[in-house]
Amino acid sequence: MKSEGMLEITTVIGCPIACKACPQDKLMSRYTSSPAAKRLSLDDFRHILSSVPTNVRISFAGMAEPWLNPHCTDMVLHAVERGHPVAIFTTLVGMKIEDFERIKHIAFEEFVVHVADSQNNARIPVTENAFRVLEAVVRTYCSNGRPAWFSVQSHGAPHPRVLELIRAAGYPRDFHLEAQLIDRAGNLSNKEVSALNVPQTEFVYGPIECRRCGTDTNHNVLLPDGRVLLCCMDYGMRHVLGNLLTDGYSEIQNGRAASAIREAWRSHDADLLCRHCCDARPRLGDTSFSFEAHLSEASLLEGDASQAAVWTVAIGSDVAERSIFLHPPARLRFEVPTSEEGLFTAAVALHPDVWDNPESGACEFSLIVNGHEAFSRVVDPSLFADERCWHDVSVPVPACARGHHEFILVTRTLDSRTSHRWALWRRPVFHWRLLDAHSAEQPETAASPAAAG
Ligand code: SF4
Ligand code: SF4
Repeated sequence: MKSEGMLEITTVIGCPIACKACPQDKLMSRYTSSPAAKRLSLDDFRHILSSVPTNVRISFAGMAEPWLNPHCTDMVLHAVERGHPVAIFTTLVGMKIEDFERIKHIAFEEFVVHVADSQNNARIPVTENAFRVLEAVVRTYCSNGRPAWFSVQSHGAPHPRVLELIRAAGYPRDFHLEAQLIDRAGNLSNKEVSALNVPQTEFVYGPIECRRCGTDTNHNVLLPDGRVLLCCMDYGMRHVLGNLLTDGYSEIQNGRAASAIREAWRSHDADLLCRHCCDARPRLGDTSFSFEAHLSEASLLEGDASQAAVWTVAIGSDVAERSIFLHPPARLRFEVPTSEEGLFTAAVALHPDVWDNPESGACEFSLIVNGHEAFSRVVDPSLFADERCWHDVSVPVPACARGHHEFILVTRTLDSRTSHRWALWRRPVFHWRLLDAHSAEQPETAASPAAAG
């Protein structure tokens, strides 16, 4: 089922793991409910879910390790039983082997295990019990090759014992584990940001949208007392959208607080959490053309229908984004209904699942605009470790005399072999004109929205 929005479940308040890049103190100082409301009860969880549409993804993540709540396994089973897509983000702290046995048959959308690192950035205990559960999880999922929805991540170089254990349990050797730490939309202090060497996001001007939820405000976080926060960055509880113990889900989505946020996104500089967040990006408007959204109107000049599709893909710690999968050799033609000058932006990569496949190899991506090659790049992550990432593409396009622009996305290999070249164009967009009058007034010293997206 295609998920529409996401609700992250915070099963308890106060996460004793106290990772260095997690603003727990901020949350603790703002969350002032009664002690009883510091742990989500199973009854409250059931009540809350009863108003949440079943196509909303339920993510056991939130602002504390989910299995610090002994009812977490029952909550997972209840969400699955209702038919929600379910995802798990866990350090496994608090999860027992018996808990995992009860959920291991479930087809999760994602299952991400955060493990201890050698710098102790995530202060996950390194104990024999923790290792037993970790080994059971990795062995269960990886004994026949790692599925794309399962991954292990660390906040630095993984702890050597963890590395040894997961490799012995079948986790692919050389698969990149280190997640990029982020400043949590300004919720980490300057001292923490510089101690952890985390990139600090500058204030983002202009109309924006969110890389996670687009122009909706529907990737939210539930707190144990029923309050719903805008998103997982909001440790300071700046944007409370409502309370699911008293309000229905759609009431909250259409409520005053959510509308005010969407209004602020459309403005030039109304201050809100998002303008400090690395996931804010320039908003697409009437003067943008999303190639992914118009895929059904494109024509394949080379290749067949099985070679072109929309995939949602995450690489490393980046947010999963919709991308055009274009298996080489292929040429995909789009007609963009404007002849104005503008900018084509995208990113290209091969899918992480082929990086270690011995049959994979180089793929060339190129872009032909109005009959001229405007961009070309060869990517070979099977050979070069530093090509295991997205490669940004930014191509200025001059105005043309016809009433439209013609764009052709091309993928090809450098020899006759084509297997396991899962070529991806992430979020290809052509932008023409500025989004609105405000953008033109942006001060020269301000951070450019394009740089933050
Ligand atoms: S990052 Fe996760 S595990 Fe670490 S303190 Fe924060 S909520 Fe707890
Ligand atoms: S832009 Fe950042 S702060 Fe705003 S909703 Fe998205 S993730 Fe949250």
